[in-house]
Amino acid sequence: MRLDKLLAEGGFGTRSQVKRLIKKGHVEVNGEVVKDPSFQVDPLKDEVTVDGEPVYYEEEYYLVLNKPAGYVTSTKDRQMTVMELVADIPRFDKLFPVGRLDKDAEGLLLMTTDGELAHRLTHPKWKVPKTYVVKVEGRLTEEAVEPLRRGIELKDFKAKPAEVRILRSSEEESEAEITITEGKFHQVKRMFAAIGHPVKELKRVAFGPLKLGELPTGEYRHLTEEELRALR
Ligand code: URA
Repeated sequence: MRLDKLLAEGGFGTRSQVKRLIKKGHVEVNGEVVKDPSFQVDPLKDEVTVDGEPVYYEEEYYLVLNKPAGYVTSTKDRQMTVMELVADIPRFDKLFPVGRLDKDAEGLLLMTTDGELAHRLTHPKWKVPKTYVVKVEGRLTEEAVEPLRRGIELKDFKAKPAEVRILRSSEEESEAEITITEGKFHQVKRMFAAIGHPVKELKRVAFGPLKLGELPTGEYRHLTEEELRALR
């Protein structure tokens, strides 16, 4: 690929800014100064540096973000979007979220530049299991969640049977873990509302083989090779 494209995608500035950097002699390829922005490099083999700083390049990026409440899952919006939390990633303009979490929801959001993988993972055919921890109003009982386990009829569709585990239950509020394989709009909130326990807080803790773990809210990490293999 062209040297100026590599640097622009690597986060070293706009195309015209990186062209200036190159022409001024700040950029070396395999130890030699190169002043031609159209110089062809192999980003995976050639060693490119800017003022001695190596340029890292990955063909595709795969991140797990711990989305905080208050951010919209979208690449563009008038409100704060999840993109603000990953703005330092090279190839940022090619990055997008896989699926969505409501603005008031938190937790695991996969973000990638790999359109093919994203398309596959969000296709209903693949039935990727998604696990959420929810805080709901009122005391949850095994009896109350039974309709969710059987598959509950909502206004416009019948939700498939979900796995539900009650984690904590008191008169005022309860906590449960629920795993679903679909991804309809507000699905988990609608399922709990349908059994009379409106959701107060919702956090996604797993997406397919990916786990949120101890990742702090608002931060991201790169997927491991193992996670990537499991996803593919
Ligand atoms: N279900 C919901 O209701 N909201 C989400 O963000 C995800 C699943």
